[in-house]
Amino acid sequence: MEAFRNMLNEAQRIVVLTGAGMSTESGIPDFRSAGGIWTEDASRMEAMSLDYFLSYPRLFWPKFKELFQMKMSGSYEPNEGHLLLAELEKQGKQVDIFTQNIDGLHRKAGSRHVYELHGSIQTASCLSCGARYDLPHLLKHDVPECTAVGNDGEVCGTVLKTDVVLFGDAVLHFDTLYEKLDKADLLLVIGTSLEVAPARFVPEDASRIPGIKKAMINLEPTYCDSLFDFVIHQKIGEFARSLGIKK
Ligand code: NAD
Repeated sequence: MEAFRNMLNEAQRIVVLTGAGMSTESGIPDFRSAGGIWTEDASRMEAMSLDYFLSYPRLFWPKFKELFQMKMSGSYEPNEGHLLLAELEKQGKQVDIFTQNIDGLHRKAGSRHVYELHGSIQTASCLSCGARYDLPHLLKHDVPECTAVGNDGEVCGTVLKTDVVLFGDAVLHFDTLYEKLDKADLLLVIGTSLEVAPARFVPEDASRIPGIKKAMINLEPTYCDSLFDFVIHQKIGEFARSLGIKK
């Protein structure tokens, strides 16, 4: 703990990679732990694919809303783990957070440099005219459609596509992650099983960068724990509280 604290104090440019485990203590279930969303029913993965959305957009939305508890999505609050990362930034460190989460909680906690690799549940876009809609519109309609009026005076009416990255969509901001990693002195990985590509390759790629330290805080062991200088198997909220972070 002492050594970890010293390393955190010394680090000035931190790249953070977070996953669903970051938000379980905020009440949002992860995917692969016991009781996780995919663990309970693997067929859900197919329904959350780009192919499925393009084929059956009207069937997609009710499934998507239920699976991601969309009705609740404005009401979750950051936990002490999110607050720890925001606090590091307040101390004057450069903290770039690359999150696989779609819940928006890093920003809600006050972190300013947040890159959502898998997009956001808060918005959806029209693939026909590009208009973007926020959460209230998405919650108001079971199947949200584009209400933009074209030059011909007709309402567009296309079923919107969520801005969450679906299976088959491209992951966002990965070039930026590697640019930041090249200049970082610490890679902090929190709450991810590292089973999803391309995030799973980050620890190994970071091992090739001279001088960078690598630390992981994850409840359960992952397949690449051995690549890290520090591994802590603990809940991130508990860990942050042990560093003195309070809500
Ligand atoms: P994952 O479910 O594969 O792994 C989560 C990991 O977090 C597990 O290894 C688990 O041991 C660990 N964990 C659980 N609670 C923890 C805690 N309190 N503190 C520390 N570690 C904890 O999740 P993943 O690796 O992020 O990949 C799954 C996909 O899940 C991502 O694509 C992401 O988009 C999506 N997802 C996002 C949310 C969200 O936005 N909050 C929720 C569920 C899934």
